Amino acid sequence: MPVVVPKPLRTLGSSPRACFGRHALAALAVLALAGLAARPAAAEGLAKDLFGAKKLPAVAAPQSIGFYSKGCFAGGVAIPMDGPKWEVMRPSRNRRWGHPTMIALIEKLSRDAAADGWPGLLVGDISQPRGGPMLTGHASHQIGLDADIWLTPMPDRKLSIDQRENMSATLLVDEKTHLVKDALWVPAHMRLLKRAASYAEVERILVNPGIKKKLCDTVKGDRAWLRKVRPFWGHDYHFHIRIGCQPGSPNCKAQENTAPGDGCDQSLAWWFTEEPWRPNKNPDRPKARDVMTMASLPAACQAVLDGPDPASAEAVTFYGDGVPVAAAPTLTVAPAPARASASGAAALPASINAFAATPEIGIPLPRPRPGN
Ligand SMILES: [Zn+2]
Repeated sequence: MPVVVPKPLRTLGSSPRACFGRHALAALAVLALAGLAARPAAAEGLAKDLFGAKKLPAVAAPQSIGFYSKGCFAGGVAIPMDGPKWEVMRPSRNRRWGHPTMIALIEKLSRDAAADGWPGLLVGDISQPRGGPMLTGHASHQIGLDADIWLTPMPDRKLSIDQRENMSATLLVDEKTHLVKDALWVPAHMRLLKRAASYAEVERILVNPGIKKKLCDTVKGDRAWLRKVRPFWGHDYHFHIRIGCQPGSPNCKAQENTAPGDGCDQSLAWWFTEEPWRPNKNPDRPKARDVMTMASLPAACQAVLDGPDPASAEAVTFYGDGVPVAAAPTLTVAPAPARASASGAAALPASINAFAATPEIGIPLPRPRPGN
């Protein structure tokens, strides 16, 4: 993954917990989006510049639009910089935004993983406030349903902003052999990945092929969860959680289903051939994110880009506090948010409190190495 040059930071101080008025101005927000959607899509400018410049999400009901690598989302919320069992890394990137279900899931994983013996999560990139293509890094992470979690455990101290920007992650995989470095791999890594795969919302977990192989070679007993764990380039210091399209997002494009099985087969063996690691034949060909204009994205992304800001990042920061992951929260934040409540739990109303069955999981088929 390309290195992002840290930008100057704004320190995010502690402030009152956000209050999400569950019904407040919902209709207004929807109308605002609908009205804006009628405007012709602006084709000028690169989408990554336009989305990369947004500091805050669009106030609206949560909705993912398009595909993981070509889309955007409205109604995003931020994971707090710190939780009891997580810390956000590389904060200057401003990529701690996601669909509320994604953010709630990370918070839940942090608690469950801690109960399993993992000290806490170092949270990497999720999405930009309104998603869309990024100036650097990822092809996906565009619709608020992808998140990177470091495979380095959280230290037992609060990291400074400087440490969060500059601390190196541990590379778990040997670059030459593509095998896991046994001296660094611990059973807790396996338990963390298993826990992440255990949630119905999670459709895929992307890991380095070496990590997939380590799991294939060592997991005993229940191996059904291995089906969600897919090998991919990179992902040697973090793993990538991808959840499915959430209710309330009719224009979210689901991934292809995968073949059944644990994936410890030919599709994995391919990664240990020379083919996937050949140098890119067209190294100078621009990456998709570098040429996408607004016309490349679903038309509704223009409305997302033009949607109203909330009053502050804090107003749309989601403090889960043990609230179960809820599908399709009806959470709506007014542009001028009501501040709030001393009560511990943020209101993430469970308008639908059961997820639909997770579709069969798709394996990323062997394909030419992407440019990034
Ligand atoms: Zn990722």
